[in-house]
Amino acid sequence: MQILQLAQNARHQEILFYLCFTDREWHLYTPEETAISTSVIPVEATSLFYETAMIEVHSDYSMSAQFSATDDEEEAGKFRIFAVLGEIFTNPHIYIRLGTYSHFWLISDNWVFELPTCLISNSVAST
Ligand SMILES: [Zn+2]
Repeated sequence: MQILQLAQNARHQEILFYLCFTDREWHLYTPEETAISTSVIPVEATSLFYETAMIEVHSDYSMSAQFSATDDEEEAGKFRIFAVLGEIFTNPHIYIRLGTYSHFWLISDNWVFELPTCLISNSVAST
C-alpha cells in the first residue's frame, strides 16, 4: 500500500492523506501540511482536495493505531471515512471509522480498503 510507504518515508512525523474519487479513479493527495511529531495540520484548512476527499488517512507512526482525543476534535464536523495508521515501522496497524459530524463508528477495513498482508486491521471483525 502506497500510503504505508509514504508514511514510513515521513519517518517520525505524522502525515495526512486525502483519498478522492474522481473520474472513476482513486487519487491520493498529500496536502501541504505542518507536521510536528504529535500532530499534523493542513496548511490550508480547505482546498479542493480537502473538499472532494472521501477518505482521510493519517499516520501516528510509532504509536498504536487508535483515534486520539485530538483526532476526535479534528475530525468532528466532517462527513467522511477516517483511517489512522500506527506502529508503522514495527507492526503496521490500521483503524478505520466512519465519521458523521460528531459521531464515529469503527468499521471493517474490507468495506474500504484492500489491505496488503503486511498491514493488520484493528477494526471491528469483518463480517
Ligand atoms: Zn492520530
